[in-house]
This record gives sequence, structure tokens and C-alpha cells, in this order.
Amino acid sequence: MSEQSLRSALLHTSRRMVELGLNRGTAGNASVRCGEDILITPSALPVAEMSEADLVLLDKTGKVLQGRKPSSEWRFHCDILNARPEIGAVLHMHSIYATTMACLGKDVPAVHYHVAIAGGDSIRCTPYTIFGEQNLSDLALEALRDRKACLLGNHGMIALGKDLEEALSVAHEVEFLCEIYWRTLSVAEPNILTAQQMHEVKAKFVEYKKRS
Ligand code: 13P
Ligand code: ZN
Repeated sequence: MSEQSLRSALLHTSRRMVELGLNRGTAGNASVRCGEDILITPSALPVAEMSEADLVLLDKTGKVLQGRKPSSEWRFHCDILNARPEIGAVLHMHSIYATTMACLGKDVPAVHYHVAIAGGDSIRCTPYTIFGEQNLSDLALEALRDRKACLLGNHGMIALGKDLEEALSVAHEVEFLCEIYWRTLSVAEPNILTAQQMHEVKAKFVEYKKRS
């Protein structure tokens, strides 16, 4: 994809996050791999006011190559894209249910079989640490080991994908899982699927994804 198409896709995804109720105002941010470099949303600019020209081009180390001040979370965007070659897009949200779970400091267990979409039997939650610092990036990278999503303690969620479309779909699923977990917890202790049941789901998903 050309840099221009990636700018258009990154802005579209940022708008979709707001439309889906996953973000609002200046909360959250997004990035996509652009050749050897990274395109990222700017800091402190509401998505409603953002244009393609506001998106910032960074090199692998986080140095601004072109544009305005990058998202304050550029460290975890760069660190994830540098550490995970299979990942092409990183989304960060302050969505209601994921953030509710993150404020409880709870890992999300296998409360529904769709937890497998994030790559394992749970979605880990990091301890709280202040936004925009290297420690948050270090904790996020650890919580994302073998996963495409994690919760950030008292903060929000990160979702990953091979491209923006997949990352958005993972984010939407994680938000669903967190809502289901919250709803079940508010009634009683939910039934959690076993490791064996999740093992079977993962095998079945491989077949399911073949489509034909
Ligand atoms: P930015 O506007 O700098 O991207 O920050 C928003 C945010 O969610 C910080 O964690
Ligand atoms: Zn945030």
C-alpha cells in the first residue's frame, strides 16, 4: 500500500473506533506500518478534527520524519511494531467495558470461546502506570506475549492485527468479551471454559477461518 492509501486507512480506522463507541474525543490512538517506518495519529487532536495530513511519520526509533507531535503513546506503538514482525497495526482505546475491567485490574479469562480471537485463553491486564512513558510500553509488551490484545491497568486496551482491519476486529471482539464478563460478574461468578475446551476451540477456529 502507498503512504497515501495508508494515511487514508489510518484515518478511516480512527473514525471507525469513534463510530463503534470504542473511543471519543482525543482518547486513544492508532498506528500502521509504512515500509520501514510507522504512521501514527497525532497527540491531543480529536479524531473529528483530524485530516490525513495530520498523521505523523516516524522512523523505527520514534524520530519524527514528517509532521506534528506524535501520539504520546508512540513508545508502545514503535516497540510493538519492532518486536512483532507479524503485526502491521496497533490500536489503543479507552472503550467502556475494556476500561471497566482494566480499572478492576482483572485479566479476562475464557468466559466466552471468542477469547481465542486475541490469541490465547485470557486477555492479560498490566498493573497501572502513567500514560506515555516507557514503563507502560514495557508492561504492555509483556502482557501482549502470544496475544493480539491486552488491557492497560486503570487506562484502556491495546489491540493488534496484521493490518488495520484485523486490529479493529480484534478490538471490537475484546470489547464484547469485556462486556460479557462484566455482565456475568454482575449476576454471579461466570462459568469459565477449561484449557481443554479452549484447545478444541483453537483447532476448530483454524477450520472455521478457511471459509470454504
Ligand atoms: P494521545 O492524544 O497523545 O494519542 O493520547 C491519548 C491517550 O489515549 C494516551 O494514553
Ligand atoms: Zn490512553
